[in-house]
Parts: sequence; C-alpha cells; structure tokens
Amino acid sequence: AADKADVIVVGAGGAGLSAAVTAHDLGKKVIVLEKMAYLGGNTNRAAGGLNAAESQPQAKAGIKDSKESHYNDTMKGGKYLNNPDLVHTLTDHAAESVDFINSLGGDLTDVGMMAGASQKRSHRPTGGGFVGANVVKTLAQASKDRGIDVRTMAKADELIVKDGKVVGVKYTKGKKQYEVMAPAVVLAAGGFSANQDMVVKLNPKLKGFATTNHTGATGDGITLGEKAGAATVDMKQIQTHPTVVPGKGEMITEAVRGNGAILVNKDGKRFINELQTRDVVSAAELAQKDKVGFLLFDNDVRKSLKAIETYIKGGMVTEGKDLHELAQKIGVDGKQLQATVDKYTKDQKAGKDSEFGRADMPRPLTQAPYYAVMVTPAVHHTMGGLRINSQAQVLDTKGHVIPGLFAAGEVTGGVHGANRLGGNAMADIVTFGRIAGRNASQQPTGVI
Ligand code: ADP
Repeated sequence: AADKADVIVVGAGGAGLSAAVTAHDLGKKVIVLEKMAYLGGNTNRAAGGLNAAESQPQAKAGIKDSKESHYNDTMKGGKYLNNPDLVHTLTDHAAESVDFINSLGGDLTDVGMMAGASQKRSHRPTGGGFVGANVVKTLAQASKDRGIDVRTMAKADELIVKDGKVVGVKYTKGKKQYEVMAPAVVLAAGGFSANQDMVVKLNPKLKGFATTNHTGATGDGITLGEKAGAATVDMKQIQTHPTVVPGKGEMITEAVRGNGAILVNKDGKRFINELQTRDVVSAAELAQKDKVGFLLFDNDVRKSLKAIETYIKGGMVTEGKDLHELAQKIGVDGKQLQATVDKYTKDQKAGKDSEFGRADMPRPLTQAPYYAVMVTPAVHHTMGGLRINSQAQVLDTKGHVIPGLFAAGEVTGGVHGANRLGGNAMADIVTFGRIAGRNASQQPTGVI
C-alpha cells in the first residue's frame, strides 16, 4: 500500500524545507521528496542575503527601514510586472522569516546593502558569510532533529489527482516507482535555469549562456503543476546575474559591489552604476569589449566580506600590490585604471558619483593591495512559474484554486515580476515556504 502523510513536499531546497518544518511543527506528518542526493538545491548557492524590512537585526543596528519601502523597491525592480498581492505578502512577512531561521539556530544577524534596495535590509551570517548555505544547514538540521521523513534521490514524476483534488505524488527512486498519498502537496522544486532547452525556447537570446544554477534546476515542478491543470505566469522573464566568472559559472555575490567594489571594462573605465539592477548591469557588460567586466576592489572591501576569501581560495581573484601591478596582470592600461579609481575616490569623499550616480559608495578604494575578478552574465533565476495566490495555493488557468495543491519558491511566478532583486529570493522561499506549509496543514484530512 502507498505511504500516507498529511503533507507531501516536492523539493528540499529553502522553500520545501521551510514548508516541511512549518507543517511538522503544526503537528502534521510530512514526507519530503528530493531528486538529488543532497538537500538544499539551488538555495545552497544563494550568496547575498535575505531581504526583510522592520526586522530585529535592523533595529539592533539602528537601520531605519519600512515594509513599504521594501515593497516599493521590489515593484520598481520588477518593473511593476509583479503581482502586488504577492509582493505585499512577501514584504509584510519577510521579517518573520528572519526570526524563523534565527529561532532554528541560523545566523541572519548581519545586515548589508544589495542592489536595488534603498536601505540595508539584506540579512546574512556574521561578517557577510554566504546566506544560502547557512539557511540550508539550519533547515536540514531542524528537519533531522524533528525526524521528518526526507527521501533523497526520489524524483517526483506525477501528481495524483482524484475528483479534481491533488491527493498524492508518484515518484521514482532507484528504478522503482512509488506512490505517496496526502491531502496536500507542496511543489517546491525550484526554477529551470539549468534547463537550456526550456530557457532558449522561452528566450532565444540566451542560447549558449552558462548558468549559475545546480543541475537539478530543470523546471520539473512547473511541468508537474501544469499537468494537473495549473496556470503559469511570466515564463519569459529569465534573469541573468551580472557577475559570474567566465567559463567557471561561479557567481560572485552582489555584496562585493554592495560593500564597495566598482566595475571596470578592458579599457580600465567604469561603465555603469554598479548598484543598478541585474538586468541593467548585465546588459551594460554585454556592451563592453569581449562582453566582460572586472570587479575591482581594495583590501578594505576584502576585509569587509568573508565571501571574498572563498573566491581568492578558488583562484578567481587577481591581486596586485598596487593598481599598476594589478592593471598589468589583467591586461588593462595602468594609467587609465589609476585615473578611474582616483576619480571614484574623489567622488566617494565628496559623497556624489559624478559619472554614474551611484548612491551608496561605502569605501574610497584607497587601501592596497588591489583585486580584480573578471565577470560576465549567466542565467541565474527564472522569475516565472506556477501561478499562486497569497496563500500559496496553486491556481488553474481560470484563476480557481486547485484543491490540495500549494507551491512556493522559484517554482512559482509573479513575486519578482520582470527582474528579481538580490536578496529577495531568500525572502521569497522562506516566507512562501512557511505560508505553504501552514496552509497545506489546514487541508481537511480524510479526503483520501
Ligand atoms: P527554492 O529556492 O525555490 O527552494 P531550490 O532550487 O533551492 O528552490 O530547491 C528545489 C529542490 O527541488 C532542489 O533540491 C531540486 O533538486 C528539487 N527537485 C527538482 N525537481 C524535483 C523532482 N522532480 N522531484 C523531487 N525533487 C525535485
């Protein structure tokens, strides 16, 4: 006989595990299906932070911010294509997501600046460590402590639908197919950035682009939902991340720019306000020689961000004892590079970026040694996905709720509109993950 649960979660990334822990803590029996051998999915790779306004860490740091400002920034960043209900839900409840992760033993205590934000609201581990790894570790440990039934290498193939209600999932583990039954299923299978065919079909311009995503990001959840009648939204909205190391697919977190790095081209010149949104910065890079730029920063920026040590260890960073040595090593004109940095330093001290209008210039870039990382854009996030309402219920093509079906995280569409702000994915997955877990727990039992 098929195993039974109260809630089945498909995908053990940040959204799925948040849903699973939430449902378990409401007294529900939860089964999590994860197709990979490891937990955390693409969330493992989230580098920046979790955006939230009016949070406890912000209050401690004396940062004045508002949910309304977070809402406005998110809508503006998404070019107002976002679903306002979903964005309100996100920005109203993101601070609770910070508390949720911290209460489970996570470390979202440092608050930093991210592109497209009018305030410091990106919550991350102490000293600016990687957010995704910390959140996954926290949620995986919480699942283990609770004895939640997490099945790895278990790939969901199909939703079981009975009388118009979703009542279970068929999945493959090894060579065998199994069925699990429950009155509620949460799809949290992530996005499709690693599915080149799907990406190129939706946006032919992205042919040949690398991706920052793990290999499991193939859009299975969208297909599963669609087969059960779900509608999709904003599928063509695919984001590139502007600072990815060419050839390696390694992403350099936006926090490097947030903490003070500038971008220069092969002529040693700045070409964009570095804190512009990802779509704008990506497009500007593609317009430079060889479609690349260099992130340039000094020792002061290096010391401000733990993540940078990882990039240095990974061989992605070129170091020069001064700007001239660095310029020589990266094949850029030394005099021009010096002039570019001198101008930036002068502007930084005057508090006004005379060239590109960058609002936040936290460091003057005057402390040698200097560092450079060559970067180019790569496919990073798929904003589109299953249509949900603010209760994380999946809607069909007529806008009706599909009974028993919930979705959260990158598998959904509508939260980020045409462009996701850095730090809003973490906010999205934990917040909607919790909502999906809570509402899936309220599904009447005994329907199967
Ligand atoms: P999110 O950020 O929305 O939580 P992630 O990419 O972090 O998304 O997590 C999604 C997870 O779902 C990944 O671990 C991925 O391997 C898993 N997944 C994707 N497709 C399936 C599937 N068909 N069955 C089970 N798990 C899946």
